[in-house]
Amino acid sequence: MRILALAPLALLLPVAAQAQEKPDPARLKADVEKLVSFGTRHTLSDPDNPTRGIGAARRWFGAELSRIGDQCNCIEVANIARTFTGDRAPNGVQIVDVLGFQAGTDPKRVVIVMGHIDSRVTDVMNATSDAPGANDDGSGTALVLEAARILSKEKFRATIVYAALSGEEQGLYGGQLLAETAKERGWTVTAVLNNDIVGNTVGTNGQKVADRVRIFSETFGENDEPKALKGLRADGGEDDGPSRALAKAIDQVAGTIPAGLDAFLVRRPDRFGRGGDHTPFLKLGYPAVRFSVGVENYDAQHQDLVPGKGDTVDKMDFPYLAKVTALNVATIRRLASAPAAPDKVTIGGALAADTSVKWSAVPGAVKYRIHWRRADAQNWTGQRDVTGTETSLKGVVVDDSFVGVSAIGADGSESLVTFGRR
Ligand SMILES: [Zn+2]
Repeated sequence: MRILALAPLALLLPVAAQAQEKPDPARLKADVEKLVSFGTRHTLSDPDNPTRGIGAARRWFGAELSRIGDQCNCIEVANIARTFTGDRAPNGVQIVDVLGFQAGTDPKRVVIVMGHIDSRVTDVMNATSDAPGANDDGSGTALVLEAARILSKEKFRATIVYAALSGEEQGLYGGQLLAETAKERGWTVTAVLNNDIVGNTVGTNGQKVADRVRIFSETFGENDEPKALKGLRADGGEDDGPSRALAKAIDQVAGTIPAGLDAFLVRRPDRFGRGGDHTPFLKLGYPAVRFSVGVENYDAQHQDLVPGKGDTVDKMDFPYLAKVTALNVATIRRLASAPAAPDKVTIGGALAADTSVKWSAVPGAVKYRIHWRRADAQNWTGQRDVTGTETSLKGVVVDDSFVGVSAIGADGSESLVTFGRR
């Protein structure tokens, strides 16, 4: 009787409140070990060898995604490929990205979670030596599979794209291929979560950092239209571009996970002077961030396998990788459940005591959340939910305040916040 009475209640709870499967450190470890077992996954390694090299690794990843998809009949595996030539691929190489699509009810809007399947040793052109790439980026690749295992049991509004990219070490080719594919196919990209080196907790100097993950996000895009930059200069918002809004949303999600990780929001696109597969997405103006460990071990990246060096499984921390996976999963769950963010938010109120706010309607939004903060703060401090597409914030002086608007779906899921401008 009690069970019967409780069951309908459980069905009414928002997805986030239901008991959900947690990422499993043992499964993540098994996947990383499997990836290492291909010897090398160098982009220029033999793609046709059945057991060694990047081709074998890609086929295994695709088969694993298919197997996950078979259980829900909800993931379609479809690769994309193009030949790239460059300094690190002088004879040209076919770059293949293995993609799994979990179609949402809003199929053209996507949330992308990705890692790179290729690996390397000290000499970036060495395609034959063992290059385990356990952490770089077996960790991100395993995370993508684990996210698929969990999220494939749920239904979403946006399409989730699970991606294992190739050619990162040769020149971010797989990221470029996927970003340009998004553009060609006219996807609305809600978020790109790039996971690259997400599975160690001991740094080069022995320091242990197991309680935080770095989220790298750019301020505004290098190709932002001059008009957008003009608006930024005139109205502020240096901390509120689309990628930064995504990073802030991840920070908020991190706060909801018991015994989870602190999200350390690094306010630059990537590590100092370095880049990753999210970089080509930023070039095209898509909201994209990189997840990476709290502390790096440079002796375990891009190294030949000599004593004390090399990117091997024994230097990894799988309970930590499970926590980074949990943060990705919770972020995808929110953003793929939510409606799109409002395209445009306009604020006014010069020479007035109140701030007026207007925004474009979003399909599927049941209401909107107005956020505001003092203009010397980084995080939103005030919020109010409203219906319709305009409101007035009494007593909020536009000169001293920043304002943004998000869209809320029927289950309470919130989109990213769009920053208000003139
Ligand atoms: Zn990497």
